[in-house]
Amino acid sequence: MSRNIEDIKRIMIKVGSSSLCNLHGQIDKEKVLYLVLQISKLIKNGYSIVLVSSGSIAAGMGMMKLEKKPSTIPEKQALAAIGQAQLMQIYEETFQLFHIKCAQVLLNHDDFSDRKRMMNLSNTMNALMNYGVIPIVNENDALAVDEIKVGDNDTLAALLVPVVNSDLLILVSDIDGLYTKNPKEYEDAQLLKYVETVDDKIIQMAGGSSSQFGTGGMMTKINAAKIVNDYGKNMVIVNGEKEDSLLHIFDEYEEGTWFNGSHGKSLKAKAHWMTYRSTSKGKIVVDVGACKALCEHRRSLLASGIVNVEGHFIMGQVVDVVDIDQKAIAKGISNYSSDEIKLIMGHNSSDIEEILHYKDYDEVIHANNMVILGGKKNG
Ligand code: GLU
Repeated sequence: MSRNIEDIKRIMIKVGSSSLCNLHGQIDKEKVLYLVLQISKLIKNGYSIVLVSSGSIAAGMGMMKLEKKPSTIPEKQALAAIGQAQLMQIYEETFQLFHIKCAQVLLNHDDFSDRKRMMNLSNTMNALMNYGVIPIVNENDALAVDEIKVGDNDTLAALLVPVVNSDLLILVSDIDGLYTKNPKEYEDAQLLKYVETVDDKIIQMAGGSSSQFGTGGMMTKINAAKIVNDYGKNMVIVNGEKEDSLLHIFDEYEEGTWFNGSHGKSLKAKAHWMTYRSTSKGKIVVDVGACKALCEHRRSLLASGIVNVEGHFIMGQVVDVVDIDQKAIAKGISNYSSDEIKLIMGHNSSDIEEILHYKDYDEVIHANNMVILGGKKNG
């Protein structure tokens, strides 16, 4: 098992607050310089780079001379607004030393879940990269309340991988990679160099650890690996504190833990978007027969198997399909609104026209527009 680096051209680098800050949680310019120096070398080696950078709240705390993160949302949002500007100023000054231009892109979850906005984002990112400018991405923390938040930058970077078609996501952290056990608790914990598939064993190894300043612990990193690997792309976790760790990913040192994605996409583009990036607008509750038809035979969802509908959605929106115990079994694009489904549920498809006075589709969710969760995957 070895790292397949030949085909890698576009790299997404996510750097966490702990890799940018000093012990007081303030931005450490020396650390930024060291990161940018390595990025400039990667660019010289022919790679095209997108940077996802945390640190806005940390920089804001530094600017306002606060030792502790405030607890209210408006205060945190204000600090993010203050800090993001300073963060970008530091990046601009530092990248300029290497004659590299950079640009700021701030995102929220809606930029991924709304397909139009996602296309827009993809076009902008491509235009920036065609200009040879490095996009520096962060969550738009100044305006992000929980409902529209991705929440952590490991996930944000992973969601961005398909949008810009990156071949590799590098998570720069304060830990060498994934260990067999928590290395802070167990002396015999061993660093894994290579993960072929993110399975239950790997998930168990990741349990519980987190770094001092960032939001993402090892679990969010493993989830990020799953998102990226399911799209057929690679991910690696490296320690930003170690000398030249970003460069040593690609040489004989094989720095960090590599999560293999070169086995190809296990989810096609639409299914990947539905599974990881779309936000469900409601729930359709189905009976046992429909569960079986969907999960085992990959059939479309018909009105006859629906027993309830929750939430308010319109035709074309993504919804969760749950069983009678509320366990999510699928996600899909609904052909009918929640109001329409309330009228047709439990009825045969042949009755839809009589009930609604029109019938555009036989299926409430067509199998081609549905992804089965945690089991067999649809294209
Ligand atoms: N967006 C946050 C910030 O810049 C960080 C989120 C994270 O570290 O995952 O402060």
